[in-house]
Amino acid sequence: MAAKKDIRQLSLADLQLFFEEINQPAFRAKQVYQWLWQKSSLQFEAMTNLPIAVRASLEAHFDIPALSIHYRQDSKDGTVKLRFELCDGNKVEGVLIPVPADKRMTACISSQVGCSLSCAFCATGFLKRERNLFAHEIYDQVVQINTIAQEKFAMPLTNIVFMGMGEPLLNYKNVLQGINKITDEIGLGMASRRITVSTAGIAKMINQLADDEVKFNLALSLHAASDVKRNEIMPINQHNSLQALTNALKHFKEKNKRSNLTYEYILLNEFNDTEQDALDLVKWVRKVPAKINIIEYNKVEGTIFEKAGNQRLHHFINTLVKNDLTVTVRKSRGEDIDAACGQLANKV
Ligand code: SF4
Repeated sequence: MAAKKDIRQLSLADLQLFFEEINQPAFRAKQVYQWLWQKSSLQFEAMTNLPIAVRASLEAHFDIPALSIHYRQDSKDGTVKLRFELCDGNKVEGVLIPVPADKRMTACISSQVGCSLSCAFCATGFLKRERNLFAHEIYDQVVQINTIAQEKFAMPLTNIVFMGMGEPLLNYKNVLQGINKITDEIGLGMASRRITVSTAGIAKMINQLADDEVKFNLALSLHAASDVKRNEIMPINQHNSLQALTNALKHFKEKNKRSNLTYEYILLNEFNDTEQDALDLVKWVRKVPAKINIIEYNKVEGTIFEKAGNQRLHHFINTLVKNDLTVTVRKSRGEDIDAACGQLANKV
């Protein structure tokens, strides 16, 4: 007998075709689709509005491979880090970042196993890129983290950020399909404006996002606003200069009027935190205006970088504010369990 297919690789149209072939009405396809993507069902036998014979037929032809939680760490600040085991044994990490006081529950999820971009400050950058995640592996992270948010804080997820392992725009098709299942009416039904995709800066794919008129938000991991410095910490900049990114972001803003754009800037002690660095950032933001998130760095073993001290942080921010920039400082969360920004490395 032929190997069973992963049913979640099938579109609604593919499912309709399958039911046509087994002489079943087309509406069965929508029923199954709802079980898979709206109710997140992982068992055919649980699909109780289907006749038993239909369930048996699904069982005979298909599988529903899914990721599972391999390891969980709870931080003293409420953050939860999860290591997910994929069906092929690969591992990725996702994080629940709770801020109940602000009614915010954010899931930070991964898009690739490892990462090919080798940013010098990032723990994931030391891991070899093994493969892209499938759309259902992206979706499953959200479902699992949402379950924990409900159990631990009695609140569902309010936000999703693609800031875990990997570069989402190098897994474009699956990331967009995953987001579609998360936002679709016959899916989890979350609002697109609650989702932010973060990129290290791939100009061609930012242009693609613009042309596809996506509805979610975009964050650029900037971290330096001069090509010389950015080349030093983010090799991707060598082929995606700040000028190329400026053009792509202008295009994105023009086409995606409802999406928010933000710049992420990790403050690295005595590397990108000088007065000149702040002025470079001011110049950059004036070309393509957006809010800035200044992120406190968390020391990553094997890198030369340190967190900028408080005095340097305040001086940097003052320069930005004096120049009328909108700045938010993101404090580290889950530092004690290596769940903070740039620390995801499949390490216990
Ligand atoms: S910061 Fe993002 S793009 Fe850069 S190495 Fe880490 S995971 Fe990859």
